[in-house]
Amino acid sequence: MKITEVKTYNLKYPLVEPFANSHGWSTARSAGVVEIRTDAGITGWGEGSSIPSQSAIHAHLIGKDPSDIEVIWNAMHQHGGSNIAAISGVDIALWDIMGQAWDQPIYRLLGGAFRDRIPAYASGIFKKDKSDITQALMDEAKGYVDQGFPAVKMKIGFGEAYDVKNVAAVRKAIGDAILLAVDANCGYDVGTAIDVGQKISENDLFWYEEPITTDDVDGYVEIRHALKVRVAGGEGLRGRWAFRDLIQKRGLDIVQPDVSIAGGFTECRKIAAMASANYVRVLPHMWGGSIRLAATLHWQATIPDSPQVLNSIPSLFEFDMTENGLRTDLAKEPIRAVEGFVPVPQGPGLGIEINREVLEKYAC
Ligand SMILES: [Mg+2]
Repeated sequence: MKITEVKTYNLKYPLVEPFANSHGWSTARSAGVVEIRTDAGITGWGEGSSIPSQSAIHAHLIGKDPSDIEVIWNAMHQHGGSNIAAISGVDIALWDIMGQAWDQPIYRLLGGAFRDRIPAYASGIFKKDKSDITQALMDEAKGYVDQGFPAVKMKIGFGEAYDVKNVAAVRKAIGDAILLAVDANCGYDVGTAIDVGQKISENDLFWYEEPITTDDVDGYVEIRHALKVRVAGGEGLRGRWAFRDLIQKRGLDIVQPDVSIAGGFTECRKIAAMASANYVRVLPHMWGGSIRLAATLHWQATIPDSPQVLNSIPSLFEFDMTENGLRTDLAKEPIRAVEGFVPVPQGPGLGIEINREVLEKYAC
């Protein structure tokens, strides 16, 4: 089999209602989509947080055998890692082609699924332009519990007063039985992260995500030693080298590689192996369109519980609850959470079919 054509699409979906994390307001969602065609009539789809250049496509993809996935990954990679987000989309598309060629879902090519549906946490509860923001956050969180989610994640990092008040309010709204994670999106320095962390961890937190900038390994180690709460992070890191020190120095309890940023299935498997060897839990990050959603499900299905015991901490899937037509409309049959679980696609490859009308509609 040979690759005959590669198309790329930059997609943009304008939000009806803007929302904010600690870095600022979002008014649109985006995705980089790669379509790889072959002489066998198989088309693979991938999504990265950026798209490959035309020169990389012609040098490393056209005319190549799509099953040479490791060889193509290494040929495309430039040390420094800036292009790994684009390789991610290519890598996902190549695995999609291989799955279709073998008539098997990608998770099976990766070694098989430990679960055919994954318990999910509702990821949302952003800051919004509301007159009573606390009540709005409580209502949103309670709505997810009513839909059957066993866990929710809310945004913090907006200053001590906001965080202390609203984490307590959300905990009250969801009750004691629901897992609650908080995400500061790198919004604090080490001292503030520890100070705020001590105050909000009175609310029985499942994890404290990205309290500080991702690459401050010593800062993460300091925070982990100062707090009695699991620390999570790493969603923006690219390639195994970027994860190495954070994992090996035990800066995190939970590492969150993103399959569309960190390097696709090929690289994420290596990062997961490194995490396993260092007793760090892997819970993938998911924030994107339909292709990324399907890809993350395939990968997360193949990650064993850690530790493998009767009452293991669940492998929770990040189910993005915010408005994004690229996630809800790009696949002909959208992947939905049912009673707090997300089913792993069972068709060959990624197991989704792309709606080309939606693709054209949001291409920019
Ligand atoms: Mg996050």
